[in-house]
Amino acid sequence: RAVVHWFKMDLRTADNRALSQASDKAREAGVPLVALYVLSPQDFEAHLTASVRVDFMLRCLAVLREDLARLDIPLWIETVAERNKVPERVLELMERWGARHLFVNLEYEVDELRREAKMARMCAEKAMALHVAHDTCVVMPGTLRSGTGRPYAVYSPWYRAWVRHIHENLELLELSEGPSRNPASAREIFAGLFDCDIPPPPENKRLSEEEAQIFQSLWPAGEHEAMKRLDKFCEADIGGYAANRNIPSTSGTSNLSVHFASGTLSARTAVRVARDRNKTKKLDAGIEGIQTWISEVAWRDFYKHVLVHWPYTCMNKPFKPEYSNIEWSYDQEHFAAWTEGRTGFPIVDAAMRQLRGMGWMHNRCRMIVASFLSKDLLLDWRMGERYFMEHLIDGDFASNNGGWGFAASVGVDPQPYFRIFNPLLQSEKFDPQGDYIRKWVPELKGVVGKAIHDPYGRGVGPQAKKAGYPKPIVEHKGARERALAAYKRGIESG
Ligand code: FAD
Repeated sequence: RAVVHWFKMDLRTADNRALSQASDKAREAGVPLVALYVLSPQDFEAHLTASVRVDFMLRCLAVLREDLARLDIPLWIETVAERNKVPERVLELMERWGARHLFVNLEYEVDELRREAKMARMCAEKAMALHVAHDTCVVMPGTLRSGTGRPYAVYSPWYRAWVRHIHENLELLELSEGPSRNPASAREIFAGLFDCDIPPPPENKRLSEEEAQIFQSLWPAGEHEAMKRLDKFCEADIGGYAANRNIPSTSGTSNLSVHFASGTLSARTAVRVARDRNKTKKLDAGIEGIQTWISEVAWRDFYKHVLVHWPYTCMNKPFKPEYSNIEWSYDQEHFAAWTEGRTGFPIVDAAMRQLRGMGWMHNRCRMIVASFLSKDLLLDWRMGERYFMEHLIDGDFASNNGGWGFAASVGVDPQPYFRIFNPLLQSEKFDPQGDYIRKWVPELKGVVGKAIHDPYGRGVGPQAKKAGYPKPIVEHKGARERALAAYKRGIESG
């Protein structure tokens, strides 16, 4: 009597492979399509999902529910308290709805793969079919291997293979059709499902009213907003992306990560729309800004590929086992100063305050603060990785873990451990006028010239002190030596 599509991190109707296939199946069988979303508070805990992210997802669900209702497709949303009961509950609902076909887009994290494996077994026992689609990445993880048949552990050759593979299989960029309208009878058969409310977030994931308003205006939800943002970025900024993407005071990047992470935008659509602006129709030729942007979207695919080939990266382990024995400092005061943006390094503090203020941080700054935490403070990179997940609106396990692994030199294709960012030089190079710092560190608003990057070292200490800005909590040169020694000892003892 029905076909079911189970939404997860694919909160859109456009270019959604499993949804499109579910719709085809329902049409062929002459039965309605029912959409399902399961809210799992235990998953939020296990995955450290930020409150801003939960809020964003719930707002996306409201948009999705309306879009689907316009097609007479109900979206049933249910909270399931125990995460290991989710497959049972999905089956119960399918039985109640008389459905024998369940469609999902595969998620590649270990917990999700286990859940899907359980779901497949349980469906088979009940003679139901679980249809799984690969939709999250442009190229399915596991597809690309080096000449020796091994998975790539370095981005550049992987990226060249990614481009080649897409050029040879252009159907990978073809968009899936949106779902068709349900038969009118769906409104009668599933009347109760159309009245489903958007549930409130779990108690510990609630934003204050003021925060909710701020994040709503910063990050409008849903797939239409994603397309608007993509079109605007392609119209106004993509041409200058290669030049501006490292300057955090500009709007040089797309701000689309929240949409990729929630699935309100498919990577396929994004790459295709960007490529179509390039006269060559190639991913790696033509306008430099477009090529560079596509190569950044590819990083997202790359980190999913890493997750699939080396699933132990999901288990708190460094990609490189020889980096397991570094003696980290676990200094709680240093960690608190880092999280609160009062390290005395203006670029670090600006970035950490941006994270709290926006639920988002510019990529260049993510690299700076991650390097600062793991090298200058010698704190365990996993503390930073966790803190990011707890606060990012775009928190995505694979990209976050990959970014931290890169910056702390413990990951795939890392920054070599002996190349340590100098936060002051990074600040001078990427925020030359200090505009970004002034925006997020108001104590330094009145500081002019280069002193903004290092107020205590450049003669405006008394002014900074008066304004309440802290002194640096470490001295970079000494901290660098300490990190080099600790990394070396760790590797030698590993
Ligand atoms: P753009 O510059 O417009 O890039 C377009 C898209 O490409 C992004 O939206 C993103 O999906 C992808 N992308 C760009 N750079 C990267 C990258 N280095 N790695 C993976 N994908 C990339 N990104 C997340 O989506 N979620 C995270 O949790 C996350 N954590 C990170 C942690 C660290 C320590 C670092 C260094 C990077 C992290 N990133 C993460 C990657 C990157 O910082 C963000 O994707 C980017 O800043 C988002 O802004 P944007 O959409 O304007 O990016």
